[in-house]
Amino acid sequence: MPELDFLTKTLGSALSPYHLTDHLVEALAEGGFEQVSLGANPKLVAGGRYILRKGAKTFCAWVQGSSKTAPVHLLSAHSDFPALRLRPNSFEIYNGLCAFQAELYGGPLTGTWFDRDLRVAGLVVSFQDGRLQQQRVAPEKLRARVSSTAPHLFKTADEAHRAAEGVLHCVFDLARQDPEAHFLSLIAAELDIAPEAIVEMDLWLSHDQAPQRFGQDGALLSSHALDNASSDAMMVEALLRCEAPAATAMIGVFDVEEVGSSAWSGAAANFLPEMLRQIAPSCGYKDFTRFTGDSLHISIDVAHAVGKQDGPAFADGNAPKLAQGPVIKLGAPGRYCYSPHIVGLLKHLAREHDIPLQHFMYPNGWRRGGSLAPYLATGTGIRTQDFGIAIHAMHSIREMGAVRDYALGVDLMAAFLNAAPQSDLGAVE
Ligand SMILES: [Zn+2]
Repeated sequence: MPELDFLTKTLGSALSPYHLTDHLVEALAEGGFEQVSLGANPKLVAGGRYILRKGAKTFCAWVQGSSKTAPVHLLSAHSDFPALRLRPNSFEIYNGLCAFQAELYGGPLTGTWFDRDLRVAGLVVSFQDGRLQQQRVAPEKLRARVSSTAPHLFKTADEAHRAAEGVLHCVFDLARQDPEAHFLSLIAAELDIAPEAIVEMDLWLSHDQAPQRFGQDGALLSSHALDNASSDAMMVEALLRCEAPAATAMIGVFDVEEVGSSAWSGAAANFLPEMLRQIAPSCGYKDFTRFTGDSLHISIDVAHAVGKQDGPAFADGNAPKLAQGPVIKLGAPGRYCYSPHIVGLLKHLAREHDIPLQHFMYPNGWRRGGSLAPYLATGTGIRTQDFGIAIHAMHSIREMGAVRDYALGVDLMAAFLNAAPQSDLGAVE
């Protein structure tokens, strides 16, 4: 059974999307990737390893292809994840306790966030030495907790459910002083700055209990943020296995997928199309339409492992199980992307490398989860397929997956990045 050091470290880094993205970029830098900023004629060489960042939580990294025309083989995944976030202007004395209120970000299964000693982590903007400065923060000792209400205090289960979606009071201390001043002093002390210097905070409440493997040989994995830090880790591991790919092997990490991808650093923004336009000549293409036409894109996000508890709607062979291989995600037109060409390539590569594959498709009439794939596909004009590993309890604070699926996913994605490029794909599919 694989050791999975990198996956475990990546999951452990996911205190906030800022911390997670920093960790991914650091791992790539250790693997020889250098940060670039692209001008009109970027000097990119075959085999060169590059990172281009767009803000703190979005970036692309790639190994420049060695083929005369080197289209992009792209993997993408999101850096944000469901969580609670500090609501501005919400500090309060609540039942004799220092508290603030939280907003729900990205559809967390709210109840699973209750009764946990949540870690406060994220970004602090301060004004120091005449300029705005940004720092990551994650004070070890600053914890906040949303207490659930005992069932004896509700008249009905419905009432309890409504309470879970309503105002979330996050308690962080006894009320012995002004709660906001107290909170700011704890953050400022961690950063070694004056509390008055803090002008903005983007703080997340997430779970820092280490991922846990269990079952024989540690086959199962329980963790916070498998959606989608496991896919981020998978992409980075696959890219690090590219020495001299013929195609341009690329990964993209994008912010704000859980809230719709439409933001300056999201998949719907112009970052990737603009960046591809700038590197097209270095990849041997004068014609941008041919460049994107020959390129291929797999969007990686976790899939639902479907069990008996999920009912008879999943009656065919499109209901993935844990540890039975990575998943081709199909259906729900407009929310997932389908490319027969890429599915064909994946099935061919899976056969070659002895990797089992599963499929996921929503029952007829369901129109549920989406991914960042449609945004990147429409923005770039690159044919795109959704893909991922199956997990239980998606959007819970503690999701569950299988180690084997992750390891097979890395193998298959590395094979995809290293696959020989095909040209003149314009008229196929
Ligand atoms: Zn996701």
